[in-house]
Amino acid sequence: MALSEKDLLASVPTGLYIGGKWVEGHGEGRIAVEDPATGKTLVEIANANEQDALAALTAADETQAAWARVSPRERGEILRRTFELVRERAEDFATLISLEMGKPLAEARGEVVYGNEFLRWFSEEAVRISGRYGSNPEGTGRMLITQRPVGPAFAITPWNFPLAMATRKIGPAIAAGCTMVVKPAELTPLTTLLLVKTLEEAGLPAGVINVITTSTSAATSAPVIADPRLRKITFTGSTAVGVKLLEQSAKNVLRTSMELGGNAPFLVFEDADIDAAVNGAMLAKMRNIGQACTAANRFIIHDSIADEFAQKFAAKMDALQLGRGVAEGTTCGPVINEKARANMQRLVSATTAEGGEIVAGGEAAAGDGYFFKPTVLDHVKPGSTILKEEIFGPIAPIVRFKTEEEAVRLANDTEYGLVSYAFTQDLKRGLRLAETLDTGMTGLNSGLVSNAAAPFGGVKQSGLGREGGLEGINEYLETKYVMIPDPLA
Ligand code: NAD
Repeated sequence: MALSEKDLLASVPTGLYIGGKWVEGHGEGRIAVEDPATGKTLVEIANANEQDALAALTAADETQAAWARVSPRERGEILRRTFELVRERAEDFATLISLEMGKPLAEARGEVVYGNEFLRWFSEEAVRISGRYGSNPEGTGRMLITQRPVGPAFAITPWNFPLAMATRKIGPAIAAGCTMVVKPAELTPLTTLLLVKTLEEAGLPAGVINVITTSTSAATSAPVIADPRLRKITFTGSTAVGVKLLEQSAKNVLRTSMELGGNAPFLVFEDADIDAAVNGAMLAKMRNIGQACTAANRFIIHDSIADEFAQKFAAKMDALQLGRGVAEGTTCGPVINEKARANMQRLVSATTAEGGEIVAGGEAAAGDGYFFKPTVLDHVKPGSTILKEEIFGPIAPIVRFKTEEEAVRLANDTEYGLVSYAFTQDLKRGLRLAETLDTGMTGLNSGLVSNAAAPFGGVKQSGLGREGGLEGINEYLETKYVMIPDPLA
């Protein structure tokens, strides 16, 4: 049975989780976690300072050797049990995600399925960590190659997918035998806290996962990154912060995984199924109220079909119902805070000043919370400000093109390279685009790419490494090679 909102919030631990204990933080005051649909405080939680962060690293470091010796099967079974518990409590997790982040409940339920799948996937991957043994080319010796956990890792996650961004890191770390300090975003930390409580119930030993919540991310994280006991940092967030963390990581030559910002192009060709493209556009743009790294950021549409596409897309955007995520009938929530809403207004004003036209929305919605109307901007000029920035909200700018070459040039004209989307019914063109679009992932006639079984990640300034898929666990493993003289000689 799902808990009431009040009981659910009361069930979320509000402390730091260090060495298997829930403790208070030594930072200034407590952190008020807000409901972005009302601006009201949901819960207050502990605030960690540097001393707490280093205590969390000490717990992770002291547990590392023992945890690496726990059998892969046992590590996998802890993940599997957690997966089952999250599935049983799916409605509670979905409600909590919706309350702290603002997305509609139906989408939050989708995130629970998606995010939980990383726990199941990596429970199955834990027992497939393998090595090899064979002769060297000269025949004079044997080469033994094994994989070992990289060691204590530090995970920093963003606010937009409170469950999935945590499980995508915690799942492979546990499977690989790594201990971890997790620092969720201060805007949406509650889901991670509930997840860790669930891991504890599933039998995760003390010290394997440690959680710190803090209002002073930079100051609290820096000593952990500078500490020689740390061996790995895994970050999901903006490119600007990722670059700073890479700089800090260079000092101790840390292993790094970086899932950074995006500026996804969404291409529709003259031979596309336009209705399918519009449905794909809604998914790629409006998932998470446009606040996803995978969000379609630039709609690059063939001139001959652009009028029809813009009109059908605008009609669907206009039909979305704004509201609190947990309210009946809501199909679009608020953006995360007032700063994000002001940024939407700035981008619309810049685009119209640069020649774009508003065909849907274009302004903030009246009333409480941080709502901005779903917006479509047509006839946006190449080079416009909005095409260069990660929008991270419900605005869809449309640029028109005439040739495939022009479309690909426009699509690749960005320092980002996370995901691209292309709609065409011409198979050869589709495959050509998959090769010419400079992104880590492409949705071919699909507005959604995320899947726990697929390697998620970007090229260029969108990041380093992959999460999920067969590749995901490698980010938490080191290769060890042992040379052995020919035992038959
Ligand atoms: P952000 O970079 O502002 O913050 C991300 C996390 O880093 C938060 O936990 C924050 O507290 C922490 N942080 C900020 N400055 C820090 C510092 N100096 N040292 C240590 N930690 C610091 O990003 P956000 O606003 O939370 O999330 C939105 C961004 O995340 C977007 O750019 C989006 O594209 C990106 N994102 C990427 C992916 C991906 O998989 N590529 C997925 C989701 C979000």
